[in-house]
Amino acid sequence: MACLFGHKWNGCKCSKCGETRDEQHDWDGCKCTRCGKIRDEQHKWNGCKCSICGKARNEGHILNNCICKICGTVLHDWNTDGICRNCKAKFSYLLSGANPDILNYISAHDKIMPTPQCKALYEKVKNNKELDYTETILLFFIIESEGKRQSSIDSSHDFLWRFSIGANVLANIQEYFNKPKENIMALYNEKMLNDNSIKGETISNGFDDTINAALEKLEVCFKSQDKAGIIEIGKNLYGVNGSMFMMHTVGERFARKFPRDAGTLNFLWNGIGEWKA
Ligand SMILES: [Zn+2]
Ligand SMILES: [Zn+2]
Ligand SMILES: [Zn+2]
Ligand SMILES: [Zn+2]
Ligand SMILES: [Zn+2]
Repeated sequence: MACLFGHKWNGCKCSKCGETRDEQHDWDGCKCTRCGKIRDEQHKWNGCKCSICGKARNEGHILNNCICKICGTVLHDWNTDGICRNCKAKFSYLLSGANPDILNYISAHDKIMPTPQCKALYEKVKNNKELDYTETILLFFIIESEGKRQSSIDSSHDFLWRFSIGANVLANIQEYFNKPKENIMALYNEKMLNDNSIKGETISNGFDDTINAALEKLEVCFKSQDKAGIIEIGKNLYGVNGSMFMMHTVGERFARKFPRDAGTLNFLWNGIGEWKA
């Protein structure tokens, strides 16, 4: 029965023909008790799921041995030794598919901050092996910093392509850690920069003063954005013993202390002496 001479609205629903309109609903949380319409507010959360409409959210999971009893999401609480604090699982991460772009990132990075870990990481990614906790943090850092570095020197479409692959992998790794990006960067700084076992080069004592003085000057130049000063420091370091050893060492130490500035330093020093990115 159509209401030819006008509906008789009772809230959102016509009491004569049953037609509904999108106004004057009778909300109980996220659902209209009269017409059944669902809105995306005032859900009744039972852990990670709305008990009225079934909408899921990525919080409030109810975990049993790190697996959510409601939605099946796996949420480990990784300790810095790569073991889950709750279920004792061991962290491992597998990069999906052979990925030449990520390999390029790693080898480019290895030229600025050469470490045994970079080489091991390269081999594992190349051979599609699972990465452990430390390697995954290193990979995260490399993609993050290489992405920034490349964006400062390369504006081609090619770069955008590589960048988007990097961003995808980053998002994936973040999911594995269950941590926001900033927290994984902090982990890198804490774990990698303070770990003597991953320092690439051992420095003979005689050079320590020169190195420390250069690091101090670099820090000052970066603070005042003195590009000419930064280049000058590089040139002087190259002159110390006629090789790139000092530049390389100072660059590496600086990059460890200020990872976010590593790309700029590399860019400004590129071409001095034999230093080539
Ligand atoms: Zn009607
Ligand atoms: Zn309604
Ligand atoms: Zn709901
Ligand atoms: Zn859940
Ligand atoms: Zn766990």
